[in-house]
Amino acid sequence: MVTDDTPRVIALEEHYWDADVARQFGVTDEQRPAELRRRLEDLGALRLKEMDEAGIDMQVLSHSSPAVQNLDPDKAIPMARAMNDRLHEFIQGEPRRFAGFAALPTSDPDAAADELERAVVKLGLKGAMVHGLTRGRFFDERQFWPIFERAQTLDVPLYLHPSRPHPAVIEAYYKEYVAQNPALLTAGWGYTVETATQGVRLVLSGVFDAYPRLKIILGHLGEGLPFLLWRIDHALSRPGNRDPRFREQFCEHVYITTSGNFSDPALLCCILEMGVDRILFSVDWPFVPNMLGTTWINGVSLAKADKLKILGGNARRLLRI
Ligand code: ZN
Repeated sequence: MVTDDTPRVIALEEHYWDADVARQFGVTDEQRPAELRRRLEDLGALRLKEMDEAGIDMQVLSHSSPAVQNLDPDKAIPMARAMNDRLHEFIQGEPRRFAGFAALPTSDPDAAADELERAVVKLGLKGAMVHGLTRGRFFDERQFWPIFERAQTLDVPLYLHPSRPHPAVIEAYYKEYVAQNPALLTAGWGYTVETATQGVRLVLSGVFDAYPRLKIILGHLGEGLPFLLWRIDHALSRPGNRDPRFREQFCEHVYITTSGNFSDPALLCCILEMGVDRILFSVDWPFVPNMLGTTWINGVSLAKADKLKILGGNARRLLRI
C-alpha cells in the first residue's frame, strides 16, 4: 500500500565512497577529480540537497568502483564486512531516504555468499553490487555460483556494475585511442562491452536453469543488450548452438535501470523488448547529475501508471521497500 511515507522516486545506482576503502586503493585526484570525490564521500547535506532539488525520495547506495572484488580474500572479507556495517549505520540515520546494496568479497565465493546473507538478514541491505571481473575471472564461472544460490534463497537481486576492461582487452582493442579519449575505457564504450559480455555469459552459463528465481540487475538501460536481443537469440538458436533461449531467459531474470542513459528511443526499445515492469529509474550519481535524470524521465511521453512503475513502483516491489 502506498502511503504518504512511501518513497515514490527511487534511484538504484547511486554511489558513495567509503573513505577508509578509498585510502587503501590510493586513488589519485586525476582518477577522481575533487568535486566528484566530494560528492562520493558526502553522506549528508550535499547528497540530500541534490536529491531534493531533483525530486528523488530515496537513493539505494552502492560503493563506487573500485570495490573489493580484486583484493585477496584475507583483505576483502574484513573490508567488505566493515564497509557494509558502516553503510548500514549510515542508513539507520536516514532510513526514509536511503537503502543500500552490499559489497561482496567475491574472491572467496563462499565468504561472499555468507556476507550477502549477513548484509541482507542482519543489516537490512537490499542485495549486492559487483563491479566487473573478480581478479580477471567472469562472474558466471562455477566457482561463483554459491553467491547466486544464496541470492536466490534470500530473494534479493545482484547488480552487475561496469568496471574497466581486462588489460589484455585494452591492449588489443583500445590502446590507440585511449590517450585522447580516456572515457573510451569507461562509460564511453569499454564499460558497456565488459558488462554486456558479463550479461551474455551469465545466460550461456546455465545459471538461470540452476537458479530459476535468480534476479540480476544491469544498469545503463541493460548495457545495450535489449537492442540486440532478437539478433543474439536468433544466432544462438541456430543448429550447432546450445540454444539457451537467450531472449526468454534474459527477459525473465534481468531487470535494467536507466542509470546514465537518458535516451527516449533507447528507453522505448527497452520497454518494447522487456516490458515496463523490468525497468527501474536510476541516475548513477554523482557521475551523472540528478537533475538530468529526473528532468528527462518526467518529460518522457509515457502513461502515468508506467512512469510511476519506472520511477519507484518496480523498485519497491523488487527490493521490498
Ligand atoms: Zn555506476
